[in-house]
Amino acid sequence: MHPEHGDRVIETLFLDLDGTMLDWSRLREAIRSTCEGLSAAHPGLDPLEIEKVNDSVWDTYWPEIELDWYRGHLDNDELGLEAWRRTFEQFGLHDAELLQATADAYHRAERGGHTLFDDVVDTLAEARAAGIRLAVVTNGPTGAQRAKLEALGIENSFDAVFVSGEVGAAKPDRAIFDHALAELDADPATAWHVGDLLDKDVAGAQAAGIRGIWLNRLDETATATDAVPDLEITSLRELLPALQLPARTGVRS
Ligand SMILES: [Mg+2]
Repeated sequence: MHPEHGDRVIETLFLDLDGTMLDWSRLREAIRSTCEGLSAAHPGLDPLEIEKVNDSVWDTYWPEIELDWYRGHLDNDELGLEAWRRTFEQFGLHDAELLQATADAYHRAERGGHTLFDDVVDTLAEARAAGIRLAVVTNGPTGAQRAKLEALGIENSFDAVFVSGEVGAAKPDRAIFDHALAELDADPATAWHVGDLLDKDVAGAQAAGIRGIWLNRLDETATATDAVPDLEITSLRELLPALQLPARTGVRS
């Protein structure tokens, strides 16, 4: 018996990882503590100024490497080291040893800061108990994404894990969802995907014929050009109750 959404049966639930199950907010603390460490080593540098520069470095660096990252061509440690190298450059710092120590400190703080949103464990357990198959569909390199699942203690909570770096396609490319459906022998008509990004999660899932749920944790406002989710929730706690309700306004039939 599967929970029904109107006349639709829900058999498979795909979930995004970053920002959906993994709480990003601790990342800010990792950046902050790294900047404070660097300021302690270089008392002339203001930690807030370092943080600001590091943020602006990421603003330009991320678009440069986003696709390579999703394809698994970049290693997490290399990525961080390069961002800190660019940050150092902005301050005219050329100290390879301090640079490596800073990048290492950041990665330690980042890994130690991986936390689950508090609505994940119960939702996974309830979905499992309701007979729904669960799979992760995440963008990033294999090593980094699987390490996150392990650090969060949820690596065994899914029937399958699909990482763009190993699949060779990244959301919003429907190919990653097509691959996931094929691997699970799942029917898109009975599959839903939940994620925090309209352009990656909702648009990608819908392109593959899967219904897309927007997990809008920050209560953001979508723009006219954004993908229109089949369902919008602000917490995973709303997910199962919403799916078990009869068809409602805003849900495509
Ligand atoms: Mg995400």
